[in-house]
Amino acid sequence: MATLKIKNCAICGKIFTPIRSEKICRDCKVKQEEKEREVIQYVRDHPGTNMKEVAKATGVNDKFIQQMAMQGLFVNITNSENFFYPCVKCGRPINRGAYCTDCLKSQRDEIKKVAEQMQIRIKEDKNMSTIERLDKLAEKEFERENRVVKRHFSRGMYKDITDSRR
Ligand SMILES: [Zn+2]
Ligand SMILES: [Zn+2]
Repeated sequence: MATLKIKNCAICGKIFTPIRSEKICRDCKVKQEEKEREVIQYVRDHPGTNMKEVAKATGVNDKFIQQMAMQGLFVNITNSENFFYPCVKCGRPINRGAYCTDCLKSQRDEIKKVAEQMQIRIKEDKNMSTIERLDKLAEKEFERENRVVKRHFSRGMYKDITDSRR
């Protein structure tokens, strides 16, 4: 049975019911999307611009721009090196996600290896199914990646968006 969870919005603090794993409320999401459209339009209108310049011109902070970059939002509108940033693990320049393709691949291989090792142990634990075990593992990995992303994009970035709109 699904449980109904409530959360505080990471931007305005209002209590809301996330449908999936949203961290911000509907109102703030709309505002954020508006701001994103503004940023994308600026990049389109100013070829050769860089992340710092865009942030300054649109009134958001660098982290907001970097998060947009991580979501791959600039991939289709500019191939400028100015929108590349280092892979969290190896530092190679990338233009979407937290990791480069090589690091992602080695990470997946690691998960697979652990999963295989776990399967051997699962035989001894009859209370938990293989699927449940793998689910737990995937969940842990997801949390870990989330922590990495969070370290890069603190709450401060959201505050800046709301502040700039006053
Ligand atoms: Zn909110
Ligand atoms: Zn890498």
